[in-house]
Amino acid sequence: MQRWKIGRVTITKITELETPGPGTFVIPQATPEALLAAPAWLRPHFVNEAGEAIMSIHSFVVESEGARILVDTCVGNDKPRPIPEWDRRSGPFLDDLRRAGFPPESIDRVLCTHLHVDHVGWNTRLEGGRFVPTFGNARYLIGRTEWEFWSKAPEDAFGPVLEDSVRPVFDAGLVDLVEGDEALTGEVELLPTPGHTPGHVSVRIRSEGAEAVITGDLMHHPVQCAHPEWGSHFDTDPQQALATRRAFLERFGDRPALVLGTHFAGPTAGHLRRDGEAWRFEPA
Ligand SMILES: [Zn+2]
Repeated sequence: MQRWKIGRVTITKITELETPGPGTFVIPQATPEALLAAPAWLRPHFVNEAGEAIMSIHSFVVESEGARILVDTCVGNDKPRPIPEWDRRSGPFLDDLRRAGFPPESIDRVLCTHLHVDHVGWNTRLEGGRFVPTFGNARYLIGRTEWEFWSKAPEDAFGPVLEDSVRPVFDAGLVDLVEGDEALTGEVELLPTPGHTPGHVSVRIRSEGAEAVITGDLMHHPVQCAHPEWGSHFDTDPQQALATRRAFLERFGDRPALVLGTHFAGPTAGHLRRDGEAWRFEPA
């Protein structure tokens, strides 16, 4: 289990899945040839010898001022999904969360950086044939802009994501719609980083002079530090996503801020260092 201290804040990573696969699933330019031609610092943690992208789906538990905030909730179990590894899973995520010291009933807040399939899954779990909130004592924080967009969008390509993983927490009265720059505690605040989705947010942590930031999906893979111009198939606004990614690299690059990648495999956390025209991700 990986855990980081940022001043008085503790961040714990709970992994649901970490696998190598075709980089082009998310990033069209990330062919095996292109990944093998990318800077050598990407290997072995993020690119393997076959030129596959190693990616992770995980949650972070952020503990601040007595609150336990779960950031992103992965794919979840028992959900019908068109990807074999995601379809009707029966993974040990909740046991792993418990083992890390966080039984579901102890989570105070759930924050989805955005409402994509791999960020909302454990919002709910199957019980008596229905999907019910997993974290019954939590407030679920959902971006107002994000909700306005997805609640009017046509059916998700990944299945009934809103119906099985988002609407049940609304129906249970557990949702607080939040602004993109909402402060969650005196140490943790949201940072609007739109483009991947309209209401996408990152999470900034500052405590006792230390700083960290959870990316969300403004980047999916560290290769995008070397190639910020490489976007994702799933960006709703590719131009805005690119501008957000560049601004993020400029803002947090060559700074003490610890960057925690929402889909970064292995070490997951590190620092952004200037590398010629672009950037390098240096695991902490
Ligand atoms: Zn994602």
